[in-house]
Amino acid sequence: MTITVHDYYQAGWRETLHPCPACEWKGDSRQMEMELHDEQTEYSCPQCEFPLLVVQHPTLDQVKAAADAGNEEAQQQLAILAMAPRG
Ligand SMILES: [Zn+2]
Repeated sequence: MTITVHDYYQAGWRETLHPCPACEWKGDSRQMEMELHDEQTEYSCPQCEFPLLVVQHPTLDQVKAAADAGNEEAQQQLAILAMAPRG
């Protein structure tokens, strides 16, 4: 089963251990194969490439809300966004 993380800022998804349903592998997101897309990041089993985790990227509103709530990562992302040139 592929797990979808709808809230990027929810704690713990990076550290959660996911057993692969297709093989014997088990590990967290840092050990998985990562594939970046515009809207989401997909993590798959490093052994058999079964998709284990889909993390939807936060919208700007979500980044702002998380930063307001004291999330350090969101605050850093907001600072980076503020520095980016606008097209
Ligand atoms: Zn696997």
